Amino acid sequence: MSLKYIEQQLNLCVKCGNCRFNCPVFKTTLDEGGVARGKISILQILLKENEKFSQETLSYLDSCVVCGSCQYICPRDVDYLNIIEFARAKAVKDNQISRAKKIFLNLLKDNKNLKFASFVKSVFSRKSGLIFKLPKIKRHFPLPDKPMKKRVKHYNKPEGDRKFDVLFFPGCATRFVFSDTGYKLVKVLNRLGVGVYFDEDLRCCGFPHLTAGDSETFEELRGFNLNVFENYKEKVKYIVSGCATCGSNLSRNYNLPVEFVDINALLLDVLEYKPKKRLDIDTYFHHPCHLMKHQGVKEQPEKLLDFVSNRKKMEGEDFCCGFGGSFSIFEAEKSKSIGDKKAEMIKNSIKGNFDKSLIVTSCPGCIIQLNDSIKRNNLPLKTVHIIDLIYSEMEE
Ligand code: SF4
Ligand code: SF4
Repeated sequence: MSLKYIEQQLNLCVKCGNCRFNCPVFKTTLDEGGVARGKISILQILLKENEKFSQETLSYLDSCVVCGSCQYICPRDVDYLNIIEFARAKAVKDNQISRAKKIFLNLLKDNKNLKFASFVKSVFSRKSGLIFKLPKIKRHFPLPDKPMKKRVKHYNKPEGDRKFDVLFFPGCATRFVFSDTGYKLVKVLNRLGVGVYFDEDLRCCGFPHLTAGDSETFEELRGFNLNVFENYKEKVKYIVSGCATCGSNLSRNYNLPVEFVDINALLLDVLEYKPKKRLDIDTYFHHPCHLMKHQGVKEQPEKLLDFVSNRKKMEGEDFCCGFGGSFSIFEAEKSKSIGDKKAEMIKNSIKGNFDKSLIVTSCPGCIIQLNDSIKRNNLPLKTVHIIDLIYSEMEE
């Protein structure tokens, strides 16, 4: 993105303050530096001066989940996401990125690191779930599970008549942590007559790097993945993902040779999925920001949940969960405060009916954050991916 474009976007802001109503950081800190308007005001001065950012400015720039909730309701359509990415990229160019964040981003860059983490997990435990607590920040994260490669083939044949083929982009979290959900997504599509390719060569989509300002690594990962996509352009009708974040990145920032479709939209709009029966469970859907606000996919998961379960309205169902990838680690206190707010909304909605209730969403990052927030707030509940539920319905 050019400086000229960013300056134009900064100047579009009329400081109306609408973004304050939707910003999860502002709602928990009440600090103007946490919201889009505050950061825009600071950047209007600093980008002109082209000097290194002060520690205070860096901490304001770090105070953002990159959820896009501000952009979603901005009456002036200010392209806030590109503004924050641009400002963070400047900080990285000026070598203003912490060593810890660099290590974290390097870990995601290479599949070998994630495979090694899966191997370590297999040595210590075969159980999945919330079993790893980062002591310093007191957060629960799931450990890696068996990699997707060990669960699915390169080409997974459809059952019955073949409608078309797709290429599955699982993303790092599904591939190495929630591979059971990845396996179920492939099986669900196979049962609906769709052949699914899984390509071991695909790498991280680069969203964590892009939003942290490491645009060089993002470009590298994007180029690599685009080369893999090229090999499928004559073979598949869609690229599909069950990760809202990967989906947002692929549709916003890749020039794809094949159309991308989110799994919810594929199931409802293209395959017209209708279950045979409804599960006897109350469900509450959390709308991932990267699905609803970045991709405009809102009705599809709601309708799918109506089909397979007894969906109920949840207070703040589109309020950001506060995960934000590296934000959940490097801004842990803010991320936990947002998670606590979300847990309170969940508690208010369920009104004690915990036994029969399930929180459902469509993004691995949101699942991690919601389960951590639920656990810290002692709610006897669980969050699952919508695919887990659809698979259960098909199995019954
Ligand atoms: S809602 Fe948009 S125009 Fe209004 S203050 Fe926020 S960024 Fe600026
Ligand atoms: S992207 Fe989200 S966290 Fe960041 S300023 Fe906008 S609403 Fe707030």
